[in-house]
Amino acid sequence: MNDDRQQPVQVSDIFVCARCGFCCHGETTVSLDQRDQDRMVAALKMSREEVSRRYWRITGSVVQMQTRDGHCIFYHPECGCTVHEGRPWRCRQWPLHPSMMAEEDNFRTITSSCRGFVPGVTYAEFCRIVQALLAQNNAEKFDP
Ligand code: SF4
Ligand code: SF4
Repeated sequence: MNDDRQQPVQVSDIFVCARCGFCCHGETTVSLDQRDQDRMVAALKMSREEVSRRYWRITGSVVQMQTRDGHCIFYHPECGCTVHEGRPWRCRQWPLHPSMMAEEDNFRTITSSCRGFVPGVTYAEFCRIVQALLAQNNAEKFDP
């Protein structure tokens, strides 16, 4: 008898962060929406004004994190992300962005720069597991 029920999947089936910090490097960072800003302010236990002055780069309506020495201001070479609980949702989600399912080229580009993908995971496997994670409503990885 066939059992068509899908087995539960886990993020670790395709990805385990190697904490290499590559995605925290660059001269710009992800942008922070209102919920990100509120979460970061709460995590840092400072006033919004102080967080803004010390850590944010605001360009018009776009709020990003400042950078230092070519990486996000919160990145520490030995400790990794120093605002882990208050990090933006795009950082939480990375690198399993559902848009990677739309373009195999995106998948190739990201898997070649992020060493956390389980070796040998294929595009088809990646899509299947991300779809299953979304169906399981994996809030930790995919919700803002
Ligand atoms: S590049 Fe990938 S493995 Fe490295 S810290 Fe970022 S998500 Fe983790
Ligand atoms: S907030 Fe944390 S995870 Fe996001 S870019 Fe900065 S150091 Fe990296």
